[in-house]
Amino acid sequence: MGSKARSRWTCRWSESSTSTPVPKPKRGFDRLVALVVLTHPHSDHISGLTEILERYQVRHVLEREFAHDTPQHADWRRAVGVESSVELLARQGMTVTFDDGVTLEVLGPPKKLLSNTLSDIDNASVVLRVAYGKVGFLLAGDVFREGESLIANNDGRSSSQVLKVGHHGSRSSSSERFLNAVSPVLAVISAGEDNRFDHPHVETLARLSDYVSAANIYVTSKHGSVEMVTNGETLTVKTER
Ligand SMILES: [Zn+2]
Repeated sequence: MGSKARSRWTCRWSESSTSTPVPKPKRGFDRLVALVVLTHPHSDHISGLTEILERYQVRHVLEREFAHDTPQHADWRRAVGVESSVELLARQGMTVTFDDGVTLEVLGPPKKLLSNTLSDIDNASVVLRVAYGKVGFLLAGDVFREGESLIANNDGRSSSQVLKVGHHGSRSSSSERFLNAVSPVLAVISAGEDNRFDHPHVETLARLSDYVSAANIYVTSKHGSVEMVTNGETLTVKTER
């Protein structure tokens, strides 16, 4: 591994001037992950992620501190400790910059978390805008419309070509106001095959269709894993099926 490849895995974050070089991957297979983000501690987001910590070397973990007393959350906290990953506390306005020019901006949640909403935990999701060159990705976590309206208030900073649709395409999310702020041209929905919630909901797809053509809406239950590659100018999408 040359120094070029190593520097790719260095990241800096706005709350500290420390730059943390990441060790070389083990020989034969790249088992190094620069940064893992836990959006919120619900089991559908945390269970598989704990396994990532166990199977890969994870240099940084970004999450919002959250009291959530479940066995899965305890497993996650234990795995973060064992991995001795650098822990970054997600705060609105924080940015993480990678040496290759990728930036990651934390758009939510706000410092004072929302309360008495339909789901305070979902609304406390870490919402990110990842950008490389001219291409932006808005990763909406599981925020509901209450959380979305706070993100939509932020002077156009959420505007992105790609939207990872919030809350699995539930009708609770993807409000008109939020979609208007993001103005995506391409959308990805993470939803399980034959899931019991009927995600994605037809209302959500209808709202999305005002912005994104049907051919540019990818749903994991139909397309399998969705991979997007960008050079900062153009975007290539590859799907499993
Ligand atoms: Zn979820």
